[in-house]
Amino acid sequence: MYFSRIKVPLPGMELGHVNVYVVKCGDGFGLVDVGLATYEAALALLRGLKAIGIKPQEVAKVFLTHFHADHITLAQFLAEVASPDFYIGAEELGWAAPSFDELAKMYAEEYKRHGAPPEVYEAYLKLHPMSRYRRAFEDVWKLPWRGVRDGEELDCGLRAVHTPGHTPGHTVYMSQGAVFTGDHVLPKITPNISWYPKPGFNPLKEYLSSLRKTRLEARGLPAHGEEIPNLADRVDQLIQHHEERLAEVLSVLKEPMTTYEVAKRITWDAGPFDQFDVYNKMFAVGEAYSHLLYLEEMGKVRRIEGEVVRWAPA
Ligand SMILES: [Zn+2]
Repeated sequence: MYFSRIKVPLPGMELGHVNVYVVKCGDGFGLVDVGLATYEAALALLRGLKAIGIKPQEVAKVFLTHFHADHITLAQFLAEVASPDFYIGAEELGWAAPSFDELAKMYAEEYKRHGAPPEVYEAYLKLHPMSRYRRAFEDVWKLPWRGVRDGEELDCGLRAVHTPGHTPGHTVYMSQGAVFTGDHVLPKITPNISWYPKPGFNPLKEYLSSLRKTRLEARGLPAHGEEIPNLADRVDQLIQHHEERLAEVLSVLKEPMTTYEVAKRITWDAGPFDQFDVYNKMFAVGEAYSHLLYLEEMGKVRRIEGEVVRWAPA
């Protein structure tokens, strides 16, 4: 399969860059993901296309893996210069709150209920990408999206596979021995599996089943970092990571505690929780929360409702 990669910078984000993949598509070209709505990213995307001899107007299709700022917010820019068709997993369009301010508030309220102190969740509310990139999100949300179904054959020789977990409607695109994995499978870091304001959505449960669905002897082309030589090997590592994490959450839960307290006691690769900035603290709390929700569904922990939610061994 022919493809090129454009590394589009993510100013102010630890990930450093997002990979935008260019695929041949009939007389034109398709992109998988587009990048963050910043000056640097727009410039890098245009220069990247130029370097491989493509005019922006030749971009006829854009396939998005999910609705996160670093992947999607530059889409409006592309709509202005090229008017491509935009595709995204149908489920990704169905869950978001009516306004992005609302959505950011829902997160902050939920984390408050799960034991986050005011200075942390209030700072998080301001830092949340839904707040920081609100204007771009609002434009992008109004684009004429085509929601793709699981297993749908698309143009450019791509097949959509729904992989809920990282987001409720995350979708990967498969093509001849390669999979554009978005944030579903990443080479170095474990994708963030967190809480979503979608009733009944159990992120980790969905994620583990999406991982099994993509346990393939194929090249993985992730949204961040370098190519994954064998997707199946990386999938096995990620499944093992979550099994160990589930065991760790159970082992710290000796007495009733909030999700925030569980997150504080877990060992994190990035260092001690207390030294994290607000954003990473909230990532960690979301991660702990998704594991607790999964353990609750398996009947291994129970929640104690109150002004704050506490968890206890079942
Ligand atoms: Zn993401």
